[in-house]
Order: sequence, then structure tokens, then C-alpha cells
Amino acid sequence: MSDELRPVVMCGPSGVGKTTLKEMLMEKYPGKFGFSVSHTTRPPRTGEVDGRDYFFSDKAGMEEMIKEDKFVEYARVHRNIYGTSISAVQNVREAGRICILDIDIQGVKTIMNGTAHKELMPYYLFVQPHEFSALEARLRKRATDTEEQIQTRIETAKKEIAASKTVPFDKFLTNENLEDAFVEYESFFLDLYPSLSKQEEVAGSMFRNRRCLTKAFLSSLLIGFAFHGGKV
Ligand code: 5GP
Repeated sequence: MSDELRPVVMCGPSGVGKTTLKEMLMEKYPGKFGFSVSHTTRPPRTGEVDGRDYFFSDKAGMEEMIKEDKFVEYARVHRNIYGTSISAVQNVREAGRICILDIDIQGVKTIMNGTAHKELMPYYLFVQPHEFSALEARLRKRATDTEEQIQTRIETAKKEIAASKTVPFDKFLTNENLEDAFVEYESFFLDLYPSLSKQEEVAGSMFRNRRCLTKAFLSSLLIGFAFHGGKV
């Protein structure tokens, strides 16, 4: 596989900002990335779309897929099953895009220690919170879970952060504030995929040209205003 299509496995506790970072990257580099849409038995949150955020499935259906070996990895997280299907990763790759997987630490270990590591050759990234209290606040602000679910997620997050220290991630990124975290997140990708830098140059120059045009437009308005002595 070309190095330019090696996937990125992203891991980190729920609420740490992985989805936001991924969406910002995908928006900045249209057509370059694709998200591996996982299967899950958890119900959709408000605003989540089946087939875009997850394939929302029932337990029997997922157990069947597990038996049929249809998953690259799967794990039981927060009393639900989550899994990355082989076809989810294949679809992204066939579209010629870099695949981003967002999975928990059990799934990371399954991939790292199994045949999938050799087949996919992914890079591994762990996103961690600056302070635990900030993560807890974000989970509460999201207001999508019950208090019991929030407590479960907090417990899982603690275990996940502790376990991450023993896993050889290629990068640990701390999300203290989104703007700085995105700069670091983007530069991790720019280092891995040199072709992105070219796209960034084009995007940058388009941005500069737009600013020049806006300036020219404003200047012409001012000149017109001065010429007519302020009369319309
Ligand atoms: P959430 O319910 O907040 O969307 O996700 C809960 C956790 O499940 C997160 O840590 C997320 O990374 C993980 N997760 C999502 N999809 C998968 C998957 O396909 N496999 C595994 N192992 N974990 C997943």
C-alpha cells in the first residue's frame, strides 16, 4: 500500500474532542480523508445519522457479523459493542482517501497485535485531555447522556488514559484548547502525508487572493464615496 494511504487510528476518551478535530481536518482538506464508519449497538444521539456517524445495529446483528469474521476489530465499550467492519475501511481506501478510524483502546490493541497491523500499517494517535475535570465538564456540557452514562464514561476514560501509557502510540496529543490542538493535529498529518502540504498551499493562496479581492473592493467603495463627496 502506498504510504500516502496508510490509515490513522485515533483513540482517546469520550468527550476529548476527537470528532471535532477530525471534522475540522476533513473540512480543511476536502476529498482527502474518509471516516471508517463503525457499527455500534448504542442508540443514536440527537443529530447522529445512521451510516454517517455509525451503523446503528442490534446486538444479534453484530454478534452474527462477529461470527462471520466481518470485523477488523471489535470491543465491548460502556456495555455496548463497537466494531470496525472490513468493508468500512475498504470503502474509504477504494475511494482513494486516507482512512481515519476512531476506536477505543481495546480495539487499538487488537489491531496493533494482530494481522490487521501488517495489512493496514496504520499510524496511531492518542488524544488526551489537559485535565480530567475539563473532560468531565465537556461530557456534562454535551448533555446527551444520563448521569449514569456520564459516570460510566468517566470511569472508562480513567482506565483508558492509564492504559494508553503502556501502548506505543506514534503520537500523544493534549487537547487543552481546540485551536492549538488543531495546529498540532494538522501538523501530525502534514508530516505523515506530504501531498497534503501542496493542498494547504493552494488553500492558503486562495484565502490570500480572497482577502486581496475584498481589500480591492472596499478600496473602490471608499474611492467612490470620496469622489461623490459623500453623496449617494
Ligand atoms: P461514543 O459512544 O462516544 O461514540 O464512543 C465510545 C467509545 O467507543 C469511544 O472511545 C470510541 O472511540 C469507541 N469506538 C467507536 N467506534 C469503535 C469501533 O469501531 N471499535 C472500537 N473498538 N471502539 C470504537
